[in-house]
Amino acid sequence: MDWVTCAHSVACTGIAVRPSGLCLAHLSPDRLSEALAQLSPGRLIDLRGTTVTSDLLSRVLEATGGRPGRARLDRVRFTGDVRLSGVTFAGDVSLDGARFDRLASFFGARFEGNASLAGARFARELSFHGVTVRGHVSLDRAVMARDALFSQAVFGHGLSCERARFDGYATFDGARLGDGAAFRGARFGRTLSFRKVSGHAGFEAAHFAADAYLSATGRLSAARARADGLLDVAVAGCGVNLRGVEVSGPTTLKLTDSHADLEGAVLRGPATVSGRGTSMLTSLRQVEAADLALHGLDLSACRFAGLAHPSGVRVKDCTFALTPRGMRVSLRRPMLRWFSRRSALADEHGMGGGAADPGATPDRLAALYAGLRPSDRATSADFASAAWEMRRRAGHRWWLWVSWLLYGYATRMGRPGAWFALLAAIAAAAALWTSTGHGTAMPR
Ligand SMILES: [Zn+2]
Repeated sequence: MDWVTCAHSVACTGIAVRPSGLCLAHLSPDRLSEALAQLSPGRLIDLRGTTVTSDLLSRVLEATGGRPGRARLDRVRFTGDVRLSGVTFAGDVSLDGARFDRLASFFGARFEGNASLAGARFARELSFHGVTVRGHVSLDRAVMARDALFSQAVFGHGLSCERARFDGYATFDGARLGDGAAFRGARFGRTLSFRKVSGHAGFEAAHFAADAYLSATGRLSAARARADGLLDVAVAGCGVNLRGVEVSGPTTLKLTDSHADLEGAVLRGPATVSGRGTSMLTSLRQVEAADLALHGLDLSACRFAGLAHPSGVRVKDCTFALTPRGMRVSLRRPMLRWFSRRSALADEHGMGGGAADPGATPDRLAALYAGLRPSDRATSADFASAAWEMRRRAGHRWWLWVSWLLYGYATRMGRPGAWFALLAAIAAAAALWTSTGHGTAMPR
């Protein structure tokens, strides 16, 4: 402790009041009245390490006219209920390492500066409901043994709850986060309701032991977080980072004019990602999800390489990138190829180029195209023909190329196309037959 402690006993950590050398809790009634008379609105209060009963707290607040200035309350132990309704803290408040044995209600209080509650312990309920803090609030490593309410609170310069422990129900519904909130490594023992929250929020490596409902605006990250129950994310105008998230229960991700990255996510329960407005998914690389439904999303930039269960992915009303249209003349077989536009996975773009993804080989892409289940016929047909094309690229077998011609054209153009394709296939087969007769090895 960096203060002179009470002379009453070695066990008392309360800051000594001059000239008695005792803390406020151990002063005689007369001396206490004298000490309290020294306090005035807007001035410093220093109760560091002191054990504060409900009675002492109300006398201190009364002496400051309900408007203390800078408040040094580090390691204070509050033995009774703490109710701060109507109190305005005009200066910064430090409650680092404070202990609240009973209710801690900041409801109706106002903070003109910052409030630091790092490492504070709340044995009972904590309420920050509707509280306005102009500055920043820290609850880093704080332990909230019961329910913690932060609904409708306003944090002008943000909130930090890194490695904090919320053992009870925690709600932040309708809170405004100012410069954003950080919950890195936090643990939520019961349901977390973080709905209709405005501002950035980061839950990196957090542990949700029960259900979690998240929202944010601007930026939301739950990268490497673990959810033992359900994970429900609903955002508008937001970039969502769910890389490496692990969810045991159902996952619901509702995007409105937002984009999300699920790279490396492990989704054990049924998962749904739906989009409104211009919403896109940027990565499903290395995702493990046995049951994943995607709808209303722009998937034109979405990477799929390494997706563990392509057949478990259902795609509805989503848009994919289109391959370029045109014709290619090559010295290798096939010498002439006609490309029509078809839907393609973003992984295919740049395949074979310098910075190609090792997970996006033609073989793997063929498996992805064959496995994915788009609900509309056109995309389904495109993916089927893309699967053929990838197999052909992987194997360079002439008969696959012929099949591709036959199948690819037939699925896209219907009956007239099929006739044309048949003729083209016969012509191509004939061309191959003659060309293979001139020295090149006959493929088996
Ligand atoms: Zn004392």
